[in-house]
Amino acid sequence: MAMNSFEWADATTVEQAAGLLAESTEQRPVIAKAGGIDLLDLMKEGILAPARLVNLKTIHGLDEIDTENGLTLGALVTLDRIDKDPRIRSRYVALSDAAAHAATPQVRNAATIAGNLLQRPRCWYFRHDHFHGEGADEMESRGADQNQHHAILDNDKNAMVHASTPATALVAYDASVELAGRANGSRVVKLSDFFLPPEMQRAHDSGIESGEVMTRVTIPPLNARAKAAYHKQTERESYDWPICDVAVVLTMEGQTVQNASIVMGWVAPTPRRASESERLLIGNRLTDDLARQAAHAAVADATPLSKNGYKVPVLEAVVRRTILAAAVAG
Ligand SMILES: Cc1cc2nc3c(=O)[nH]c(=O)nc-3n(C[C@H](O)[C@H](O)[C@H](O)COP(=O)(O)OP(=O)(O)OC[C@H]3O[C@@H](n4cnc5c(N)ncnc54)[C@H](O)[C@@H]3O)c2cc1C
Repeated sequence: MAMNSFEWADATTVEQAAGLLAESTEQRPVIAKAGGIDLLDLMKEGILAPARLVNLKTIHGLDEIDTENGLTLGALVTLDRIDKDPRIRSRYVALSDAAAHAATPQVRNAATIAGNLLQRPRCWYFRHDHFHGEGADEMESRGADQNQHHAILDNDKNAMVHASTPATALVAYDASVELAGRANGSRVVKLSDFFLPPEMQRAHDSGIESGEVMTRVTIPPLNARAKAAYHKQTERESYDWPICDVAVVLTMEGQTVQNASIVMGWVAPTPRRASESERLLIGNRLTDDLARQAAHAAVADATPLSKNGYKVPVLEAVVRRTILAAAVAG
């Protein structure tokens, strides 16, 4: 498919970028570009056809990392920097590991954290111009049963999984995103509320509005005793999209779990908290048996589709192992 020609604007301030993006109409879409990795795919796949691209990489100061009060990542911070920054790795290891295991070195060098959170699903039906991200029932009624990589939880309305793997760790760390618009200043939204519920996902899967620029991702300060682990389970050792990924943040008092945050990616249309597993852990002494029970609870509501039942035991094993790994993390 030939790409349409488009205009290019180098934004130098967030306000200018937001102003340009606010000019977007259905006939003349104006779209932000960060690293351009997903954007270019979407253009080549015929899903986006911008009349104008607004380059955000020319905005000064959007690529800063601040570890003074929790963690603040400018929207343009790359996955490679999140992996390699020793300040992030020493405190937010699950996020560093999630960034380190995403994609390939070349992609991590260009991919920004905001673009990563705003990338569209990898669902091959969504990426094909004959389908547009239908729900599981609709897909199957149309004979679209290639659901090996689709959701096993919350999948009755929409079975696409959210693509971002760093999002799994960020939700576990209770991250928020800052969105700046020209008219209404900026707003801060918890990442767990930012991704739209499955039934609302069609043209968009997040709550960013037209004319808004994502400026920062922030994580609140962690409890000094917090420990964390992240695991991305793939089919092969080299680069691959996950079967599932899991991030666990635990606060321990000796062997007892005081607080637990367990988030599962690539198994539901949005990063999915394992709330019942968290409840089972909190206040109890962490043993192999308790981790096993918590992992079992994480998949209790699974409703696998015709070809993705294999994901259920994989997810259960990864939740169990990641809980145990977090408990012994340094
Ligand atoms: C081979 C390969 C393997 C991959 N593996 C993984 C993986 O394992 N895990 C994973 O998470 N990802 C993976 N990816 C996806 C990749 O990480 C994303 O495509 C990339 O992070 C997108 O970031 P970007 O900066 O290039 O965004 P862009 O492509 O520039 O933008 C993506 C979207 O976000 C919008 N946007 C970007 N920044 C802003 C902003 N600041 N404000 C408002 N809108 C904005 C753009 O308009 C666009 O719609 C892989 C990609 C490839 C090619």
